[in-house]
Amino acid sequence: MTERNLICIACPRGCPIKVTLDDNKEVVNVEGATCKNGDKYARDEVTHPLRNLTSTVKVSGGIATVAPVRTNGDIPKELLFDAMKVINSVTIEAPVHVNDIVIKDILGTGIDVIATNEIA
Ligand code: SF4
Repeated sequence: MTERNLICIACPRGCPIKVTLDDNKEVVNVEGATCKNGDKYARDEVTHPLRNLTSTVKVSGGIATVAPVRTNGDIPKELLFDAMKVINSVTIEAPVHVNDIVIKDILGTGIDVIATNEIA
């Protein structure tokens, strides 16, 4: 048996959670999660951690030189570094609109990188 102590990041409350895994790394108990989202976060975090990525991409021809972006879903935590390399390699043309798809299916995850602000 192994125990993992986490702070839930699924909402600002930050509940402390203890997850117990058996010798096969299967979750056998979750304590401290006060809602279903926290329980799911804890189980995912110890088996296949996921993160939403926020960043900026370069913009040409606009009133600003970068635009804020985020993934429209969570991607595996171990892909964050490679995803940033892809994002940093992209330059998009203004105008940029909220929810424009900047990078489709980043790293084959099925998740898109989308703009979160307007750049005229
Ligand atoms: S367990 Fe639920 S209430 Fe607590 S931080 Fe996580 S999401 Fe928020």
